[in-house]
Amino acid sequence: MKDIAYYNGQTGPIDEMTVPMNDRACYFGDGVYDVSYVFNHIPMAIDEHIDRIYRSAAMIDIHPSMEKKELKHILFSLIDRVEGESLILYFQFSRGVAPRGHDYTNMTGVPSLWAYVKPAALVDAFQDYKGITVEDKRFFFCNIKTINLLPSVLANHQAHAAGAEEAILHRGDRVTEGSHSNISILKDGVLQTAPLDELILPGITRAHVIRICQRLSIPVREEPFTVKEMMEADEVFFTASGALCCRFYEIDGIPVGGRDMKTFCAIRDAYEAERRAECGLD
Ligand code: PMP
Repeated sequence: MKDIAYYNGQTGPIDEMTVPMNDRACYFGDGVYDVSYVFNHIPMAIDEHIDRIYRSAAMIDIHPSMEKKELKHILFSLIDRVEGESLILYFQFSRGVAPRGHDYTNMTGVPSLWAYVKPAALVDAFQDYKGITVEDKRFFFCNIKTINLLPSVLANHQAHAAGAEEAILHRGDRVTEGSHSNISILKDGVLQTAPLDELILPGITRAHVIRICQRLSIPVREEPFTVKEMMEADEVFFTASGALCCRFYEIDGIPVGGRDMKTFCAIRDAYEAERRAECGLD
């Protein structure tokens, strides 16, 4: 198949799939999701993505009826049915189907599983990107990968309307993360990235980058940094499953980075090598 959608046991082409209007994802964004990229029919870091969706679900009191093993089996069976060497795997649990009502105390249904697989390419990590800064107006659930993404959608649209690729969110002076990525800087040979708290998503790519730095003996500081520190950093880059590691050359129309390409390229190339090895591409 060219692509596939899944909803509670039913499958079909994405464009033809319908879901019940009373699924609480539709009214409330009452659910959590995760995304992995798939090469050679192997989804990258799939166990980490599955662990995160169960963690996200538990944090909003959603308890999927299926075990992680069963979810993994379903996701692999969907991937197997789609042609192509480079795919995106999207999956989400919503609280389930029930007549609209904020309180879910008396809900009888079980959480719904939604998923799709379709062709998609990674953002090219061998290009450089433009960013803009946007005030972070999200709520304090940023560590939970909920499907409530309106502020991120608007910020990302603002970036594209300005001819940039990513919006870098900040609360006051403090850089939090991108609209759909984590942001890191390099300064004096040290990788600095925001600490894990309720203001950022614990990115799986971020965690891999930290491990790569440890392997390459690049010191890591998980501490907040300001917009000014970012603008003056030796390199600024975003990380996400769909992009791995991509550097900015301009933010808000001002040139940034370009002073420690050696360290940036070492991290990016190590990540690319990891991807190729994990997905059997060599
Ligand atoms: N932060 C936000 C807000 C995101 O949406 C994403 C991508 N889903 C990330 C960070 C990066 O996370 P990951 O590396 O796990 O894709």
